Amino acid sequence: MTANVFEESTLTLSAWIARGKGDRASAKFEFEQEGGSETVEAAELELGGKDGDKKKVSTQITLPKCKDDEDVYTLSYKVTCGGVEYPGNDFKVWLKTAKFKAVDSEGAALKGVPLTFNQTGDKLYVTDSAGECPLPINATAPAKITVRSPCSVDEWTTEVGRLREATVTKKEYKAVVVDPALEDNAEDTPLRQYTNLKVDATAPRQGSKITVTIGGMTDTECIPGIPGDPIYVKLEWDKDAVSKRNDPKRALIIDGSTVEPNDEGVAEGEMKFDDKGEASFEVELGQAGGDIVKIHTGITSATEDSTLHVQNWRRLWYQLTVPKGTDEPSLDRMTAALDEVFVEYIQEGDTVEVPEDDGPAGSWFDGAWIGEDGKKLLNVGDHNKTHFHGKFDDAKTPHMVHVMCCHTQYDTGGAGTQVDFLDVEVTKDTKDKWSDGSDVIGFKKKVGRGFFPKSLKDGGSSLISGSWESDDGSESGDIEDEHLHIADSHFTLKLPDEAVTYLGDDATKKVKVDISVFKAKGPYLGEADGTKKYLQLIVIRLSENVSNDVAAHELGHTMKQVPQAAGGKPPGMGTVTHGREYTGNGHQGGHCADGMASGDYNGGAGAGTYAGNFKGKKECTCIMYGENGEGSTCTGKFCDRCKPFIKGQALDTLH
Ligand SMILES: [Zn+2]
Ligand SMILES: [Zn+2]
Repeated sequence: MTANVFEESTLTLSAWIARGKGDRASAKFEFEQEGGSETVEAAELELGGKDGDKKKVSTQITLPKCKDDEDVYTLSYKVTCGGVEYPGNDFKVWLKTAKFKAVDSEGAALKGVPLTFNQTGDKLYVTDSAGECPLPINATAPAKITVRSPCSVDEWTTEVGRLREATVTKKEYKAVVVDPALEDNAEDTPLRQYTNLKVDATAPRQGSKITVTIGGMTDTECIPGIPGDPIYVKLEWDKDAVSKRNDPKRALIIDGSTVEPNDEGVAEGEMKFDDKGEASFEVELGQAGGDIVKIHTGITSATEDSTLHVQNWRRLWYQLTVPKGTDEPSLDRMTAALDEVFVEYIQEGDTVEVPEDDGPAGSWFDGAWIGEDGKKLLNVGDHNKTHFHGKFDDAKTPHMVHVMCCHTQYDTGGAGTQVDFLDVEVTKDTKDKWSDGSDVIGFKKKVGRGFFPKSLKDGGSSLISGSWESDDGSESGDIEDEHLHIADSHFTLKLPDEAVTYLGDDATKKVKVDISVFKAKGPYLGEADGTKKYLQLIVIRLSENVSNDVAAHELGHTMKQVPQAAGGKPPGMGTVTHGREYTGNGHQGGHCADGMASGDYNGGAGAGTYAGNFKGKKECTCIMYGENGEGSTCTGKFCDRCKPFIKGQALDTLH
């Protein structure tokens, strides 16, 4: 049996001497050795303790060191007593300490040579200023070192033993970004980092901080850096182009210490490769869309070894819900506009269809009412939108929008939906055409858009109340649905028979009619819900451009546009002026009058014909202008005044 032991170990060797021999007084240990710096001497020892008819003999030896030029030697022993030999163990005795020395071609000590050692796996060791590196021997086994790139062995002077030496060549190498990968991240196609999304270990391109890992690179291969070698980092933002948003602040973060960019947009730092030849640092990119940082690294302070280009983007998702049978709108024009403010707008899940007749009574109406004979159309407004927004699966919360498409958007909740016609006088000669073309005693009135044969509120009667009374007060009665014909935003009222009978043939007799009807408010083109702006209604019975512009406009509101006061602006942008922002003037919410002359705009109040009224101004072409219907002059883009404010929004939640 062979045991492996380190040099200089102390061993206790023993043997049991059997009966018949045990009456001898002593036994002799004899050694046989191949190698080793000294010889173990034989020893004659007295027999000791007894066990039955056996007696024990023991000795202690300290193993000699290996010779300087050997890794291992062998040792064996035997015990002789009374002419009988008792064989002992064999030992392999291994070096316990050794070191490696690197010299250059001139024979001078070479510092910073990386090497691995077979007993310690991939761990890197580096020669010191004397060119030396102790070998971390931890096993009684062969000890072998491998010099690593960018260094290579030209010639071994001694490859075994206590002092190993080689002539080594050290090549130059670079400190380059290895993660994120540099491929495909050129200056004109920077890496997109989605700064509005939560940090997620499984989705490394999320969050406003990016971790950059550095490795070494020779002219032929990627290598670990040399532990202790310096790495220089330089971040460059275009000081004139970056957002004025200042929270969180852009910065270089090395080992938890932060360097903000100077007035030129530059932040610099220095670090070292760790004992695995790795290094990493963080960059706080800020949360403004479109900002680009160039991340330069190098093994020298010139930082010319690699450059990573990173640009801040934001990602938002939407669910598209459409009335059954309706083609989903193409949102290409809108997504192109969002591209310019560094927002990716992505449909999540399949388009959801609302089945016909789904929803509260009155939601679906006869298309003939608005000139689309043979169709059933869906109206969604403040009174029934909760039902339809119930179809929203907010799978990407809080970054997801419900785009609820409808054929019309009339609101029927709230005040201002009753239209009264009071004391309308009718004589036997007050006549109008009934639905069948016949003349009837009665009258026709225009109520306006939102007035339909049935109420959009609940599908019931559009007649709220109606009554008539004779001029002498002797007779009266109710106006019922049958007395009204409603079409094209008008109603024709024919007098009830009793009233006609009262008028008879007497042209001087009169009846007075009071009538109140229901008229929904609108039509609107879309909305972002007042308190939950991620819930939108978009009318799609429009040209594609208008649908897109409405959808983009409402998303603009969802993204808190157009800010009116410092408090509504992104942090750091309180004093940045928009110049054409306004509220009111015939529109609801914060809007943009880009294109309007300064005098007409008048600080947002309007002057002359513009005073308090910005409606219908063809020179206003921004998506965030307050109106957007057919014939709109909207360019389909957010204007240059609006862009910085949209880019400056964090968009880390739409909730
Ligand atoms: Zn608006
Ligand atoms: Zn604008």
